[in-house]
Amino acid sequence: MPAYIVLFGPPGAGKGTQAQAISQKLSLPHISSGDIFRENLKSHTELGKLAETYMSKGNLVPDDVTIAMIRERLTRPDCKNGALLDGFPRTVAQADALAAMLAEFQGGVNAVPFINVPEAVLVERLTGRWTCRAQGHIFHEKNNPPRIAGHCDFDGSELYQRDDDKVETVTNRIRVYFKQSGPLIEYYRQRGVLVEVDGARPIEQVTEDLLAALPTE
Ligand code: AMP
Repeated sequence: MPAYIVLFGPPGAGKGTQAQAISQKLSLPHISSGDIFRENLKSHTELGKLAETYMSKGNLVPDDVTIAMIRERLTRPDCKNGALLDGFPRTVAQADALAAMLAEFQGGVNAVPFINVPEAVLVERLTGRWTCRAQGHIFHEKNNPPRIAGHCDFDGSELYQRDDDKVETVTNRIRVYFKQSGPLIEYYRQRGVLVEVDGARPIEQVTEDLLAALPTE
């Protein structure tokens, strides 16, 4: 049976950083809805242009568009044993749609690690974040600096600040998270799959906690 893990938490909780660290260990592909939107943006697709209008303001891309995009991604061959989802679902409608599509794939959401970080820390994390142009690797100017300033440790490409990591947009993203994604905590808790992890600890410790919290075969 395929295994699907949903990394959940506010923007700035470290979902992308942790997904990078654990996806290989779990032998599951890292599927980030934000990364897919950004790739579309980079290649000027219609989806990218549409998503931009929402992303630039820190709002959510409409559910129908996002759900169709994730569905397409999850049907690709590399997801045959499951996936590590990062940034999806973000609304109850998306979570319902995910449950329905995974049932079709003979699976379900196995675990939802909730990386919890106090709100006060999120702004500092997001506004200090630098992202790699080529593959989206994530660094932080203070907490996780690259070895060579301005360059990705993994592929040497240029590091840039995401437009939506600028302070004006960050505040709205956090507000949107509490309003639209907050109800998912209860949603997954009621379904018995939520595991809370303290995301304020150092990166390596959060990775260890996550791996310990996840079901092993
Ligand atoms: P992220 O990289 O996860 O922080 O996502 C960046 C932006 O992409 C978000 O602020 C939204 O505008 C959009 N986005 C990513 N995932 C979703 C989703 N599941 N539903 C709606 N919008 C999303």
